[in-house]
Amino acid sequence: MTTDSFELGPIRPPSEAYSLLIRATKNCPWNRCKFCHVYKGEKFELRSVEEIKQDILAVKAIQDRLKETSWKSGYGGKVEAVAAAILNNPPNEASFNVALWLYHGGTSAFLQDANSLIMRTPELVEVIRFLKQTLPSITRVTSYARSKTAAKKRLEELVQLHEAGLSRLHIGLESGYDPLLEYMDKGVTAAEHIKGGKNIVKSGISLCEYVLLGLGGKKMWREHATETAKVLNQINADFIRVRTLTIKEGMPLYEEVKNGNFVRQTDEEVIEEERLFIEGLDCKSNFISDHITNLLQEIEGKLPEDKEKMLAIIARFQALSPEEKQNFKLGRRLGVYEGLDDLDNLPKHNSVAQAVQRLSHNGNQIDEETIYSLMERFI
Ligand code: SF4
Repeated sequence: MTTDSFELGPIRPPSEAYSLLIRATKNCPWNRCKFCHVYKGEKFELRSVEEIKQDILAVKAIQDRLKETSWKSGYGGKVEAVAAAILNNPPNEASFNVALWLYHGGTSAFLQDANSLIMRTPELVEVIRFLKQTLPSITRVTSYARSKTAAKKRLEELVQLHEAGLSRLHIGLESGYDPLLEYMDKGVTAAEHIKGGKNIVKSGISLCEYVLLGLGGKKMWREHATETAKVLNQINADFIRVRTLTIKEGMPLYEEVKNGNFVRQTDEEVIEEERLFIEGLDCKSNFISDHITNLLQEIEGKLPEDKEKMLAIIARFQALSPEEKQNFKLGRRLGVYEGLDDLDNLPKHNSVAQAVQRLSHNGNQIDEETIYSLMERFI
């Protein structure tokens, strides 16, 4: 029996904003990383193939109903217009997700939660096949995975998953520096990152590796930058995506900051780290900064050819006067600016300058705590 709703997990990568979300497992089987709050307090659970299939059938039922409404409303079975109406007034989160997915073409699906590769390979293959058979508009299936699990899977298994339709895996690499991985309790070594990443690339599945800028703090930032670049140079992932460390209550790292064990970098220091990181990259990957936490979201390009262009953006920020840097930092953290060119937008610049006045304590200085607390809103 199908229902009007299905399970949804808490997150998906920014690039999967319009993907259908299918919850393959629940929560995180590791759940110990100090910088991550997403699944803390939640127990990991495998879901049965049958349960996941029921969710896929629930999606189909919602889709069929939208098609029927489309016919009845004179849209000839096209679901976009009906999906737009649902988006304005969704009966539940699941219908919202289906409507959003259909509105954007209905071609991508993302398997939640933190590490779908932990499922037995034949079961994951069965889920992906069923998903594509039941919802044939789907041409792209992606998921999160851990490097450690990818390192343990046999290459043939990853190839089977690729042949079944698994198009891309998103991995939280975070860092390639072993002492930092250990301190953060990431549960993986640089060598395992490399092995897992290479396995995925060899299997034909597209790979996206996420790096967490700022993770080294004031103590390990330099090694974090250089060693992470070295690891990525060996993997040659299709995509390297960066996010910037943001700390909030509920993360073990929050306590580490409070007791002085971990000292955060300023935005300027993170940018210097990013410069060192990019300088060290010598791989063929697409570099993407599509996360709101990144100060310079415009640093994007294809490596190696765009490296100088990317470094030039950093140089442009670093050459700003202290006042303009502060204005830009606050403008970004308030969500007013998208990129450095916005500094030339007079109305935006003036509104940020007024905010600087309001939020500064002495002599027009915004303290880092204010910037950090503004960043918390983004995660
Ligand atoms: S493996 Fe990923 S989801 Fe799990 S605790 Fe670490 S960062 Fe969070």
